[in-house]
Amino acid sequence: MCQPPGLAPETFGAQHYKSDYKPIWCPGCGDYTVLAAITKALATVQKPPHEVAVVSGIGCSSRIPAYTSCYGFHGVHGRALAAGTGLKVARPDLTVLVASGDGDGYSIGGNHFLHACRRNVDLTYIVMDNHVYGMTKGQPSPTTEPDWDSKLSPGGTGVRSFHPLVIALASGANFVARAFSGDQQGTAEIIAQGIRHPGFSFIEILSPCVTFRPEQRDWRNLVHPASVQPTDDPARAAKRIMTDDGFNIGVLYAGHRAPYAGGPSPASADMAALEAEFAV
Ligand code: SF4
Repeated sequence: MCQPPGLAPETFGAQHYKSDYKPIWCPGCGDYTVLAAITKALATVQKPPHEVAVVSGIGCSSRIPAYTSCYGFHGVHGRALAAGTGLKVARPDLTVLVASGDGDGYSIGGNHFLHACRRNVDLTYIVMDNHVYGMTKGQPSPTTEPDWDSKLSPGGTGVRSFHPLVIALASGANFVARAFSGDQQGTAEIIAQGIRHPGFSFIEILSPCVTFRPEQRDWRNLVHPASVQPTDDPARAAKRIMTDDGFNIGVLYAGHRAPYAGGPSPASADMAALEAEFAV
């Protein structure tokens, strides 16, 4: 449970970020270990639970706020980033994590994704990607492979998959990483790095849906650590990501853009001074 201010322990363990609610995900769902990695990451950065907010949209992964002891907001489909951005701008003292899935975050929420990257507000966006809409029984999502044959997409969709990491880079995200839920410790370390990195941090977590994509259990054998150091050159990062196999795990880009600070830009402050000077 959340410790009230004044009664907080000197150090926080992962258990301090867990709520009493028992997750209702399918047994074996990758989202269990993502939840564990988030609580470990928060223990690593030692932010008291009452100074953290977890915001989500709709989908299996979006249940996560209720399973933490932090402040939580379970919003509407695709709008998690809009709510999280507003919260961070209004309350910059809070550490804001936004959690989503590939359906919620890349389809109906796709436009919010582009503009959250562009605005570079200092929050951490975690997307649990399983290439399927799990909550609504297995429809193809934006990241589904074009040839995935299922009852709902016989013969495959034939539609090119969305590439979130490159889209994030092109749109201005300041930190881009890929993690795998089966590697709980590695995922926790990447999330902690994302929280600490200034600006908009995007972490794509490969998180198998064992019910509708049981073949994703094999991801465990496909993932491998990124063999290169993260770069601060977005063009180089984009080239690497476009040519990797989709299972390259690690921090892939760490930039230096100053996060959105709120308030008027220097240009609009100049304009306000001019208007004041010429006011009658
Ligand atoms: Fe996890 Fe898939 Fe079950 Fe949803 S349907 S809880 S994503 S395994």
